[in-house]
Amino acid sequence: MVSFARAAVVFALLSICVRAQTGRPADLILRNGAICTMNASRSWASAVVIAGGRIVYVGTDAGALKLAAPSTKSIDLGGRMVLPGFHDSHVHLESGGTAMNECQLKDLTTPDAVFTAIRKYAAANPGKPWVTGSGWDLPVFPAATPRRQQLDAVVSDRPAYMTAADGHSGWANSKALAIAGITKDTPDPPRGRIERDPETKEPNGTLRESAMQLVTGHIPAATPGERAAALKRAASLANSLGITSIQEAAADDSILAAYQTLDQRDQLTVRAVAAMQVYAGKSDDQVAELVGKRTRLAGRRFRATAAKIFSDGVIEPGTAALLEPYLDRGGSRGELNFEPERLTRLVTRLDHEGFQVHIHAIGDRAVRVSLDAFESAQKANGRRDSRHHIAHLELIEPHDIPRFRELGVIANFQPLWAYADPYIRDLTLPVLGPARSRWLYPIGSVAKTGATLAAGSDWPVTSLNPLEAIQVAVTRRGPTDPEGPAWIPEETIDLSTVLSAYTINGAYLNGQEKETGSIEVGKAGDLIVLDRNLYKIRAEKIHETKVLLTLLDGREVFRAAGF
Ligand SMILES: [Zn+2]
Repeated sequence: MVSFARAAVVFALLSICVRAQTGRPADLILRNGAICTMNASRSWASAVVIAGGRIVYVGTDAGALKLAAPSTKSIDLGGRMVLPGFHDSHVHLESGGTAMNECQLKDLTTPDAVFTAIRKYAAANPGKPWVTGSGWDLPVFPAATPRRQQLDAVVSDRPAYMTAADGHSGWANSKALAIAGITKDTPDPPRGRIERDPETKEPNGTLRESAMQLVTGHIPAATPGERAAALKRAASLANSLGITSIQEAAADDSILAAYQTLDQRDQLTVRAVAAMQVYAGKSDDQVAELVGKRTRLAGRRFRATAAKIFSDGVIEPGTAALLEPYLDRGGSRGELNFEPERLTRLVTRLDHEGFQVHIHAIGDRAVRVSLDAFESAQKANGRRDSRHHIAHLELIEPHDIPRFRELGVIANFQPLWAYADPYIRDLTLPVLGPARSRWLYPIGSVAKTGATLAAGSDWPVTSLNPLEAIQVAVTRRGPTDPEGPAWIPEETIDLSTVLSAYTINGAYLNGQEKETGSIEVGKAGDLIVLDRNLYKIRAEKIHETKVLLTLLDGREVFRAAGF
């Protein structure tokens, strides 16, 4: 805690200035709270005042009440905690919103539970020409490979296609495979794999990476209106979890259109930066197209100023790029989606054009070549305020850990993944071995170097709730696990570090740290009220915390029933 008295004097002076400038009476006073400002000195206050969507005062209750006008609303927080709105720096908001209306398979732990859910959904949606869904967890099926016959048994009248929770595998029934023309003679596409019966070589229904597009290209596309509605639905869900800013992690043209539509209608209830997807199969001229889109799409709460590169896949089916071989794949080290020379060329060009580059890297080889590419870009273009970041960072070779700080690359972790769940226990530890596994999600080690940490959910891959991820970052145990030893305890981080990642560092990542990310005079009124103070509860309880109120530009975008 810092000295409130001294802070109050400074804030009172500032508030008078700002009030004089805006000439507006206070709209809202939040008082008697534990206001965690996340400003540079991480100071606390008890009151905050909002006028015209901006924060005009942060300090004591007495100071705040001096700004009250007859029209001012005032909320007594009863000691509850206030934080800046959360920033989710890697999320697929539009596809998550779409998935909310499809068959949802997330967190079902047995094949039978998955089959039942699909059967019910198909029965409830008899008019849909395709039965689509997502969220099946890889560890539910042997070798992470469900069969087409299993899907045929629950959907026999129509094509059916279910995307895995991580988005890197798909599962099709026989009708869907037939429509896509996938037979035993179909070759694996570049950067993809059609899983096959070892004897007959017939496709068995599971498709990896780019092979998924062979089927998804035949599924009737959502209309622009449906996509905008999906995005709106997802943004509301995000608001209910305290999220006010996001980086959309892989935007194609239809996703970009959905953001633009909502932004133009003033219905976008998050600040959003989109990372426009860069395709391995397209020539480098695609960078010029991105420049045009960036200009065309610049809006009020929406900008498309980042470019997304998938440098590899994921560890479980062996598609992540490792420095040393997987222990179970005949010497394979996985595959890079972009050869290092090409990655360097693309990153250098994107950097030169002023894009923020957002790279998906899971395996330690993908992480290394991504850092190499950023280093080369810096050498070629000079060091600029680029705010490039690498998301996921599942496995980092220890020599690469200091390079984030050295190169100014933001480490964008998904902290909810950093505990020994079945993905780790059953599908990751056995294929990496103990020595390498020590360096799975080395969040603490990267933090210790002084690198900037950001955080995100990767929803709909995993839960959108930041409070679950915040808990796991601190405990390295499952959100609902009881107290106990952390998984790789050296890699835990403290609450303040993870809160920074979810607030001010997320704002920095999106280039909006002057506008949002902390509760300071002059910034937008993006803040949330929690039902308890995270610093005063046991870490195991953080995930039970509820968001009571979410303000964006001082406007209520979520209020819990009863608050
Ligand atoms: Zn993602």
